Amino acid sequence: MRELDFIVIGGGSGGLAAARRAARHGARALVIEAGPLGGTCVNVGCVPKKVSYHAAELAGLFRDAADYGFELAPPTFDLGRLKRARDAYVERLRGIYAQNLERDGAERVNGWATFVDARSVEVAGERYSAPHVLIATGGRPRLPDVAGAALGISSDGFFALERLPERPLVVGAGYVAVELGGILQALGASVTFVVRGHELLRYFDPMLRNALAEELTQTGAKLEFGFEPERAERAPGGVRLVAKDGRELFGDCLLWAIGREPMTARLGLEHAGVQLDPEGYVLVDEFQSTNVPGVYALGDVIGGDRMLTPVAIAAGRKLAERLFGGQPDARVDYTDVPTVVFSHPPIGTVGLSEPAARERFGDAAVRVYTTAFTSLYHGVTQRKPRTRMKLVVSGPEERVVGVHSIGLGSDELLQGFAVAVKLGARKADLDRTLAIHPTAAEELVTLR
Ligand SMILES: Cc1cc2nc3c(=O)[nH]c(=O)nc-3n(C[C@H](O)[C@H](O)[C@H](O)COP(=O)(O)OP(=O)(O)OC[C@H]3O[C@@H](n4cnc5c(N)ncnc54)[C@H](O)[C@@H]3O)c2cc1C
Repeated sequence: MRELDFIVIGGGSGGLAAARRAARHGARALVIEAGPLGGTCVNVGCVPKKVSYHAAELAGLFRDAADYGFELAPPTFDLGRLKRARDAYVERLRGIYAQNLERDGAERVNGWATFVDARSVEVAGERYSAPHVLIATGGRPRLPDVAGAALGISSDGFFALERLPERPLVVGAGYVAVELGGILQALGASVTFVVRGHELLRYFDPMLRNALAEELTQTGAKLEFGFEPERAERAPGGVRLVAKDGRELFGDCLLWAIGREPMTARLGLEHAGVQLDPEGYVLVDEFQSTNVPGVYALGDVIGGDRMLTPVAIAAGRKLAERLFGGQPDARVDYTDVPTVVFSHPPIGTVGLSEPAARERFGDAAVRVYTTAFTSLYHGVTQRKPRTRMKLVVSGPEERVVGVHSIGLGSDELLQGFAVAVKLGARKADLDRTLAIHPTAAEELVTLR
């Protein structure tokens, strides 16, 4: 039995951040990781997704090139080549993560961890014990409980694709569905988005989801709403997806992007007595503590609507500060978490949607400012995606409680506005900030 100060199960965004910060404070910290270091974000999430997104953006630039005076031969695209470059980059990142861990003085063990009791875990026959154990095991893609589900791939399988499918079916309406489907569409595939309900991105401001549906349709993508898959079956050249109402769709690739589930099975949590919610997520308080003293959880494994890398990292660092850094009150502020959806065009959003603000503050207290325009970049191109922005303000002082933007540059412009929201900016503060011209962001400080 090895004695340590801090055992971290899961070497993803949250676990690595917690272990490194703890080790920097002098704690004997150990990270146990069953797969490649870096977890979802580095290996099958944010990083390879963003590389693929850049490829998709390039495809758009090639389409616009002639409008900007360039004569280019029609470009060809080799997904296998992109995959090799992307894999090599991810491999480099894993190396950097390992070095960083070592530099900060944290240890690492490869293997699957299971709880023996609340203080100790077992990995490949070895036991490790510590007064503090962190569950940072993240999640994995969910597959539906329908016949033939295995004929489809998940987001993990998306990153293994070597050839661009021609007619993929993308099932789901969340950000992973619109991002991965959007990438395939922009790279030249004819994507059908298969949605059980009647909208994409259900929890986002209606302006964003309507605009995205419109823009996707403009690019030729099909949106099949109200389609509840009953079964998938082999068909010549691909897969047939059959709905409960009898509708049928064909695709040469079936991508399930219907959500994720927590990695809490086979973890031996029953030996530690850790409580889960009905969906299997670990129940924690605002300090990431579970019901068992000395056992904590953070990141995707605790669920919620903020399953994002910076949230997991911040929670990990705060926990380490609390346990080893002499900051007994350290905890993450889960409000006003900015989010970008790398759709085509991208979405940036922070704070409350208009309906959420109306529900919280009442109709009379809420005012919205909106704009829609074609960005200067598209002034000379044949493609004319629109940019739309919305500011949601509340009360007589017009406190900014929501900023929502879809269109070119919305991804990069949001971070600064998120700072403003965090500082409690009022509409008048935006108004007295001079514009940067010509940009898309300037529209947010000149709204009438
Ligand atoms: C397609 C996709 C795109 C995404 N894009 C973005 C984005 O653009 N921006 C963003 O902020 N977020 C994005 N995310 C979300 C982000 O990846 C997660 O929020 C983040 O990785 C959560 O970190 P985590 O530490 O909680 O879990 P993870 O990163 O999932 O790490 C958990 C680790 O624990 C390991 N593990 C599990 N069980 C055990 C065990 N018993 N023993 C040992 N090891 C174990 C797993 O192998 C895994 O490596 C994306 C996710 C997906 C799927």
